[in-house]
Amino acid sequence: MHIAPGVEMLELKAELMDGPSMFYPTLLWDQRDVVLVDAGFPGMASLIRGAIEQARVPFEKITRIIITHHDLDHIGSLGDLRRELPHPVQVLSHAEEVPYIQGELIPIKMTPAMRKQMEEQMKGVSEERRQAMQSMMDAMKNQKLKVDRTISDGEVLPYCGGIQIIHTPGHTPGHVCLFHITSKTMIAGDALFVENGRLGPAPSFINADTRMAIESLRKLAGCDIASIIAYHGGLYRDYPNQRLVQILHESGASAVRQLKTEEER
Ligand SMILES: [Zn+2]
Repeated sequence: MHIAPGVEMLELKAELMDGPSMFYPTLLWDQRDVVLVDAGFPGMASLIRGAIEQARVPFEKITRIIITHHDLDHIGSLGDLRRELPHPVQVLSHAEEVPYIQGELIPIKMTPAMRKQMEEQMKGVSEERRQAMQSMMDAMKNQKLKVDRTISDGEVLPYCGGIQIIHTPGHTPGHVCLFHITSKTMIAGDALFVENGRLGPAPSFINADTRMAIESLRKLAGCDIASIIAYHGGLYRDYPNQRLVQILHESGASAVRQLKTEEER
């Protein structure tokens, strides 16, 4: 879906354990750079390529891939995409995500409890789907991923008219949101979800630290946002800033009280 000049929301459909799911990576481009934000589950490289070409951007023109965080659905096809591109691309992430992306640490949410929950879930699915999930996990183990450049809070990357990095820890420690300045598009990764047209925080059971994740949303409210792209749920355009303040309020974050006193001044 075309969002603004040089901004496309890619729409990927995949069959997972609990049936079909949609994923929304973002593509940003200008004369010099083509930047892909997030890289899908393992095995999604050709889907991603197709979606990019549908947006009339040549896949070969990708120069950089920015990873919002290390969860499997965001880094799964990174290795394949890199291999398929005819030239070296730069992979960027927050420093705190690097050891997880590079496989030096086990994913932060792979706690024994989470592993158990996944095993339980696997029991309920068809053999075919179970095998597909298993081969996805196996494919991941064999990938040697590498981050080439780290990004940090407040930094403005000089690509595609300027991409502001907002460190939003909580879902994972080094989770980032990206604000595309010229189009006022907030690429939210998993900091925000859209469900049935409604914008909300990520469900707490998938966060490493939900309190921190909510607190991080206050940073987003400081930007003048026209569109939000949630990796899960897609586009949200209904007064994004107002909705963010509402979410903070609903979450009972102390952040709201502070935000209000700032507004009163
Ligand atoms: Zn995700």
